[in-house]
Amino acid sequence: MKNKFFCVHAHFYQPPRQNPWTLTVSKETLAKPYRDFNRKITDECYGPLSMPSIKSSFCDYLLSVYSHISFNFGPTLFSWIEDHYPQLAASIIQADSISAKIYGEGAAMAQAYNHRILPHCSAKDKMLQIKWGMEYFESKFKRKAKAVWLPETAVDNETLEALIACQVEFSVLSTSQADKSLIDSEENIYLEPFNYVSKNQNGKKLTLFFYNQDLSLKITQEMPNTEKYYLRILSAFKADNNPALLSIASDGENYGHHLKDGDKALSHLIKKILSDKKIVLTNYASWLKNFKAEKEIKIKENTSWSCPHGLGRWEKECGCRIDKSMKSQEWRTDLKFFTDELGEKAEKLYYATVNNLLKDPDEALFSYWQCIDKRKPDFTLNFVHSRAIKPLTPDETRKTLTALEMMKSAQLMRTSCAWFFDDISSIEPLNAIREALYLCECASKLGEDFFSVFEKIRKVKSNYPSIKIENLIEEIKAENKQPHISLCSFISGIELKYQLPFETHCNYKFKILNEKREESISFFHVSCARISTLEKREFFISVKKIEENLIFSIKESLLSDFQKNLSLKPTEFDFTCDISLLKDEDRELATIFLSKNPKNEVKKKFIISAASAYGDFDKSIEAFRIISKSENAKSIFESIPFAEDYLRHFLNLAASKPERQESKEILDFISSSAFFKTMWKYSLAMEIKYGDKKNSFKKQ
Ligand SMILES: [Zn+2]
Repeated sequence: MKNKFFCVHAHFYQPPRQNPWTLTVSKETLAKPYRDFNRKITDECYGPLSMPSIKSSFCDYLLSVYSHISFNFGPTLFSWIEDHYPQLAASIIQADSISAKIYGEGAAMAQAYNHRILPHCSAKDKMLQIKWGMEYFESKFKRKAKAVWLPETAVDNETLEALIACQVEFSVLSTSQADKSLIDSEENIYLEPFNYVSKNQNGKKLTLFFYNQDLSLKITQEMPNTEKYYLRILSAFKADNNPALLSIASDGENYGHHLKDGDKALSHLIKKILSDKKIVLTNYASWLKNFKAEKEIKIKENTSWSCPHGLGRWEKECGCRIDKSMKSQEWRTDLKFFTDELGEKAEKLYYATVNNLLKDPDEALFSYWQCIDKRKPDFTLNFVHSRAIKPLTPDETRKTLTALEMMKSAQLMRTSCAWFFDDISSIEPLNAIREALYLCECASKLGEDFFSVFEKIRKVKSNYPSIKIENLIEEIKAENKQPHISLCSFISGIELKYQLPFETHCNYKFKILNEKREESISFFHVSCARISTLEKREFFISVKKIEENLIFSIKESLLSDFQKNLSLKPTEFDFTCDISLLKDEDRELATIFLSKNPKNEVKKKFIISAASAYGDFDKSIEAFRIISKSENAKSIFESIPFAEDYLRHFLNLAASKPERQESKEILDFISSSAFFKTMWKYSLAMEIKYGDKKNSFKKQ
């Protein structure tokens, strides 16, 4: 069957988990032993898929799964991967260029930026989501995106018109989303692509591929049985001589996260297809290079791949739920009204704020993804100044950036995941509320009070009678008293004298300008710079050690007041807290370093030793052995704050000197720990070190 083609599309995506104030991801207890799901899923799926596992006739060395499928990574996920595992991000980008060499076109496609349901977006937001996604893609993959993946494959005519306006060549929908009124109802629409013809752009076209929904729904159950699933694929083709492309599509997380060893199952299937040669593996773009869509098709508007009730899952009680005991999803309607109202208010305030400051407020907004991506003060400053009508004062610069930040949250708070699960008290809707609070804080800095809109969401009922949404909102407010809490974390590191040998990502940079230490209390004057908005503030902070705790008191104050502040009364401070309010690892580190419990001694010794050993092989081994030679070594390691970062460091170390016996010691320890899945990092580091990537690809 020389002209029967097959393609697997994997949609890789995670909801944005970064806290909008600090830009860090909070710990998620359900992800244990990992600190959060991004890390867990990377070790189970994104990482292992990048391992060279497939031998083919294309070249003499093994290639990763990514080179042989069609895929898209959500920008919010890809940025996180770039920050935490730059080698993995580089190998995914490289897989796209390898696929272009062997198949003729690259495997990667863009995605609408932060996974909003596009039919729910205004016409302008549709363009914004698509353009942010496409430009982000181009900056990472160094080529123009030919296709855009629609979040949840949610579609309406306006969305397809927006894709055409952005010169997108094709997109992918489910077979259930095709309106067959223009074609022979007997036709297998999953065996060829169709043309969607624009109504209002002079007959311009977009190619639509419809993946086979039945086969795709069987991936998690049947793909582990390679032979059986392969036969299903073969039998889905027609026995004729017409060229055909059959494709399946699903969440990429099936391959290793939702489905145990799913990464191996996919790799086996690809090997089977390549060796059996009955059908030809390809990706969508490569297929379109040789064949064209012939017939026209219409789509069923307001449909998606994961809600049989159209778009109900993202706006109302439609019947979709995971846990049947979660009786009511009426909160979805309330959350949608709430976020849409805030979004409209934010948009008006944005233009009112920047109309007299920026040459082209729309162009700035449509390019703002660059600042979100780079997070570099110099870049951000130049971004605003190069777009300004006149030289801006520092205050005008901050106002402009605050308005843009507000518009970022207006997008992020409407990420589809907020509506997908069963209850408003789940992590994802709370993340939306967190973004909404941040948006309101930006608005209040611009002189508008939007907090009254919260009245509508405060009284919404959770399915858990004991949970009150208004209490959760107050908790989110308290835990995000910023930059105060981040400042306390910074000072606690100074007071307790611990350092970390790697960068932890935070939106605030602190600098000590003055200090005074007395026996049981220390005073600091600290400057605080916020990376995203370039806001600068100064604080006076006192820190007192009481037993196994620290008491922080903060007052916003000018440096010239330092001496005067030394005699402040407790009531004269703006904010007071102890270490219990510090976040995640900051709290754990403070607890370890304040503890008199001998159990914490090993951790303390390790953290101090690892910090001073960074980059030095022998000293690092000494640090490593502080834990590996201790009693309960594995459980101590798992509970060290930032355990995964230390592991990555040790794996890189082992890859730098694989001939040393100590390297083997490290590998044995990690591969028998709860983090055994993390071993792909060693293989990737070794591949980068020793890989001699031949540029010769055999002609097919
Ligand atoms: Zn539904």
